[in-house]
Formats: sequence, C-alpha cells, structure tokens
Amino acid sequence: MSVRLPASSAFKWVECNGSPTLEQSVPKIEKSEEQKLGDLAHWMAEKILKSYQAPSTKIITPMEMEGETGPNKMVVDEEIGEQVGIYTTHILQIADGNMSRLAVENELYCDRVMKGQKIIIDAWFYDGNKGVIYIRDLKFGHGIVNAYMNWQLIMEAMAILDHLGIDGLKDQHIKVNMGIVQPRAFRRNGPIDTWEVMACDLRAYFNQLTMAAADAQGPSPKCKTGPWCLKCNAKGRCDTLDKDFGRCYDYVSETLRYEPTPDELDLELDVLEHAFNVVKARKQGLEDLAIHKLREGEFIKGRGIEDKKSNEKWTCDNATLDMIGLMIGKDLKKGAKYYTPSQVINELGIDRSVISAYITRDTTGTKLVKRNTKALAEQFKRK
Ligand code: SF4
Repeated sequence: MSVRLPASSAFKWVECNGSPTLEQSVPKIEKSEEQKLGDLAHWMAEKILKSYQAPSTKIITPMEMEGETGPNKMVVDEEIGEQVGIYTTHILQIADGNMSRLAVENELYCDRVMKGQKIIIDAWFYDGNKGVIYIRDLKFGHGIVNAYMNWQLIMEAMAILDHLGIDGLKDQHIKVNMGIVQPRAFRRNGPIDTWEVMACDLRAYFNQLTMAAADAQGPSPKCKTGPWCLKCNAKGRCDTLDKDFGRCYDYVSETLRYEPTPDELDLELDVLEHAFNVVKARKQGLEDLAIHKLREGEFIKGRGIEDKKSNEKWTCDNATLDMIGLMIGKDLKKGAKYYTPSQVINELGIDRSVISAYITRDTTGTKLVKRNTKALAEQFKRK
C-alpha cells in the first residue's frame, strides 16, 4: 500500500515512521471545531491576499468578509476576521508591496521526500535583495507550535529550494526565515514565532526527513510513541501505544520508595511526562473508537454520544439587534462590537426568554458522554 507523507503530518511521521501506514487503515475521524475554523481562516486569508495580487480586483479586508459563508459552511464572524487580519497584515509586511512575487497557498512537489508528494505552502516570499526566503504557516489551534525545528516548515523549505534551483553552492549564501503565525495561541512574545537559518544548515534536517520518509514507505516501518501520538488518528488501534501504555501504567502504579536525588528527579519527571502523553493519547484514541462504534449502532454499556454545540450566537443582523436594544431599553453595542447572547443575559441581566427567538447554537461535532446505566435501567423499569 502506498502511503501519503503530507508536510502537515511530518512532525508525526518523522518520529513514528509507522504512523502513515497505520493511519491509512483506520476510518477517517470527523474534523474538530478547531480544524474547521482553521480551514475557514485559510480560505479567508487566501481570498484577502490574492485580492492584493489581482490589480483588477477590489481589495478585500477581513472586516468585509464578516457574515460570509466559507466552503465548509462556517460563517465568518468578527473574531475570526480580527485573527485572520493579524496573519494577512504580517504577510503583506513581508511582501512589502511586491505582491506578484508572493506565493499564496502555493502547490509544490517535494520529490526528495516521495515522488509526487504534493505540498501546499500557506505563504512564501523570496527577497532576492536580502537573500532571504520567508516561509509562513498559519495555525489556528490554541496549542503552541514552535517554528524551531518544525518539520513542516523544513519540508516546505526543501520544496522551495528545489523549486528555485538553489544547489549546494548557492545555499551557503541564502537565509531561510521560517515562521508560524498563531493568532489564537497565548504566546508570551506575540502570535508570530520565527526561526532563521542559512539554507545550507538545513541539509542535516533534509537528510533526516528523507531517511524517515524512506522508512515510512518501506516494508516494515517502525512505530514510536511520544507527544505526536496525541495527533495520530490511529491511536485507538495502535499496538505500540497499547504496549507503552501498559509499561507506563506499571511504572506509575509503583509507589515512590525513596528520596530521589536531583538527577533522579529530572529523569523521573521526563518519564512521567512521557507517560502522561501516552495515557492521554490512549484515552483520546479509545474515545474516537467508541464514538465510531456507537455511530455504527453498537452498544457500549455506560457510554453514549451527544452533539457538541458552539457558544450561543445571534441569528439576526445588526439592525435587528439595535431594534431589540431599543425594545428592552439597553444599548446592545459594546464598543465597536455587539454583546454576545450570553453577555446580554449575564452582564445586562436580560431574561433569556426575551432574546431566545434570536439565538442559536451550531452543532460542531460529536462528543462521548458517560451514561448512568443504573438510572437508565430504573427509567425502563418504571415504563
Ligand atoms: S499512536 Fe503513536 S505510536 Fe501509534 S502509530 Fe500513532 S504516532 Fe505511531
């Protein structure tokens, strides 16, 4: 079976060469709310940046996109508009007016990793005067992703250098500035994290990538557990993770019998951090599996599924909100924005029944819930 080695999963398959094969053998998992928002943000960013590149097109701003529905049926709101604005402003600063040379959602091939392996780079720009290639990736999750030694950015750098025909001589004079833009993560130094190196200094990383890719495509790729398991779709059916879980369980079940030295403390904390990731990954994997089985109609005692709901939001436009405000004698505008439905209830003290006809909650996915089987049995008995 041929595998796919996408750049966005390189953090996983470089460490665990067996993950692409195993992930291909399990059913696809529904995208999380965060992933869907990420897709919407990428769609918006592409539209905005490309509007600067086509002279005949009107420039689009994030604010103007509010209320628009993306290809994944999610609607752009003010918050996501502001967040995408952080990314597009940064990219426009890098391009510094040279829009025709800015590559947006650019498809390249990374044949060194695997023949025909396509990658799509969010944005990159080669500043020939400074001799710097800028690569940027927009991430929309809350969990911090660093640019330093980021395998996705390294793989993208490899594809760009090949595309530009930069060989082993030229790469000694060119810098690669790689960056992650995360408008929703609470990073101490702001939403942009960068790592700049000489292109030639990436050669060792390219070797590691190509070796990992060769192993992943080989006859018996090896699995290895670590924090990357948390983002693996196969974690519910992975023998390596199961075995490691067993070892971790035995380890943490042992009582601490002695006063550890500082070195032992350091080691023990490392082991426990690993164990924590393994336990978390196994739990998530089993939850995904249980959701899949329950959806297929299987019965799991004590577990059920429910729709995951978004926060409450308005179903009406701003003019209607102004009218509601007049009717209840409160200004529903909070600075440039409007109060959310929950703020109207909790901060302005308006009874829910007054606004309930104008609010809704979207279904954002499925969650596993614990069922009280005793209570259920009692209910059936009473019937
Ligand atoms: S769960 Fe972890 S060890 Fe198992 S395939 Fe996925 S990444 Fe590899």
